[in-house]
Amino acid sequence: MKRLNFTLDKNTVSLLNTLAVKYYGGNKSQTVRAALESLAARQGHDGWVISGYTPLRIDHEVSCHTCGSEQEEGKVLFKPVFEKGNSPEAIKQIPSEEWVECQLCIDKQ
Ligand SMILES: [Zn+2]
Repeated sequence: MKRLNFTLDKNTVSLLNTLAVKYYGGNKSQTVRAALESLAARQGHDGWVISGYTPLRIDHEVSCHTCGSEQEEGKVLFKPVFEKGNSPEAIKQIPSEEWVECQLCIDKQ
């Protein structure tokens, strides 16, 4: 166990007291631990998340990443833009193979 010292505003202190009394017999340490565990579980994991899509006219035949449909040369498809983030959908590595989505799959999202 380690004693930590941090500063909270009045409303947060009041919320902590209320939750501690209601659920943890007034134990604030236990309340903070439970809150952190709940936050960690909800946040998912660190990695790459898709933050948007950029249109791309393809110059060769390719399959849609999601539905696998074949897409002819000259069609406009959508390439995901990744950013570092924390989400249940986060992936550890950006795949090195080509990743494009067709219009139908983009519309469904
Ligand atoms: Zn598709």
